[in-house]
Amino acid sequence: MKQIVVISGKGGTGKTVITGAFAALAKNKVMADCDVDAADLHLLLQPRIKERHDFRSGLSASIDKKICRQCGKCIAACRFSAIKRGGSTSGGDAIGDGFVIDRISCEGCAFCSHICPVGAIKMEENLAGEWFISETRFGPMVHAKLGIAEENSGKLVSLVRKKAKEVAENNNCDWVIIDGAPGIGCPVIASLSGIDYAVVVTEPTLSGLHDALRVIEVTEHFNVPSRLVINKYDLNPDMSKKIEEHCAKNGISLIGKVRFDKTVVEAMVEGKTIMEYKDTPVKDEICSIWEKLQA
Ligand code: SF4
Ligand code: SF4
Repeated sequence: MKQIVVISGKGGTGKTVITGAFAALAKNKVMADCDVDAADLHLLLQPRIKERHDFRSGLSASIDKKICRQCGKCIAACRFSAIKRGGSTSGGDAIGDGFVIDRISCEGCAFCSHICPVGAIKMEENLAGEWFISETRFGPMVHAKLGIAEENSGKLVSLVRKKAKEVAENNNCDWVIIDGAPGIGCPVIASLSGIDYAVVVTEPTLSGLHDALRVIEVTEHFNVPSRLVINKYDLNPDMSKKIEEHCAKNGISLIGKVRFDKTVVEAMVEGKTIMEYKDTPVKDEICSIWEKLQA
């Protein structure tokens, strides 16, 4: 079984379009959406959820008002100003008299729970999101939804990866096709562990090249072979040429170029991958990339 992740230096380069096309082309595979902060592969694959699970991560403090003596020590101790006396909180905690924790401001350090003289403060795991195992017209898919303003997206990516691998092993699949996170942060690093190939999608702009090079450095650091794709290359032929020259000079493997075509947008609006939509040269270009990857 091979695992392929599609990543990009920044959002909006067409990563999910390419992943969706690979999902349509690959035989006997599992899909995973690891762009958990802004998941959108489901818009193309329209999964039917079969299993739904809570994702718990990080801690938040909560005050038991029956025990609290309102001494105020915890307010002075919290460096994040997350404890308030009465009133409403941005985290939607209790309103009224007494001491309350603002769950949005609470960083879960647990200091207040140690200094409370009567043990009125407990630390509780946050419900940070959900993850799902679903069925799509192309096969099984593992995906997730991170709660608003929740952290630990890297941990959720690792969980989605682990579950996708388990589903692939249980079904004797040949491929795990992963829509990775953009950028170079924790979710991308979590997307890369144990991967056979990373496909880096860039657009033909100077910032696109800069961001792609940064993410390629990350793949090199983790010894993951990467292949570059220039998406919408014909929107800026000069810059595309510069990227090609840069790749040739620096030993970066350019695996293909995909032209701009409004048909891609039309397919997305209809919730389809480009491979299921009208004929366009984009299909041949992505097919060629997929064939090279398989080879
Ligand atoms: S330190 Fe404990 S007892 Fe004092 S106000 Fe805070 S929660 Fe209440
Ligand atoms: S856990 Fe830390 S951040 Fe949260 S309320 Fe207590 S002291 Fe403040």
